[in-house]
Amino acid sequence: MSQNDLICYVGNEPATATCITCRRPICEEHTQMGQPFISLGDLGRAALQTPAMLFGPPLDEVPYCPTCREDLANRRTAEQMKLLAILLLLLALAGLGIYAFVT
Ligand SMILES: [Zn+2]
Ligand SMILES: [Zn+2]
Repeated sequence: MSQNDLICYVGNEPATATCITCRRPICEEHTQMGQPFISLGDLGRAALQTPAMLFGPPLDEVPYCPTCREDLANRRTAEQMKLLAILLLLLALAGLGIYAFVT
């Protein structure tokens, strides 16, 4: 076995990929493919630069280890809650605007 043979950090099998987040080697069985994580800030910047990106095809899935995949799900939920809060705020502002306009 050469030094280049990477071993899955979960179960010691020969690794076929490395986790996109933590760079740990993972075997096929323990690789969990998923959409790359995009934070709300990144999404906003991307939307300003290339609005077409928001309507383009979904991004290629990337390999995650089980730990990072779980972490990713949590972070995504947090971002979705933020987005919801912003939408509610905008809705409230729009409501106030309409209220001021009709009275
Ligand atoms: Zn990882
Ligand atoms: Zn494994």
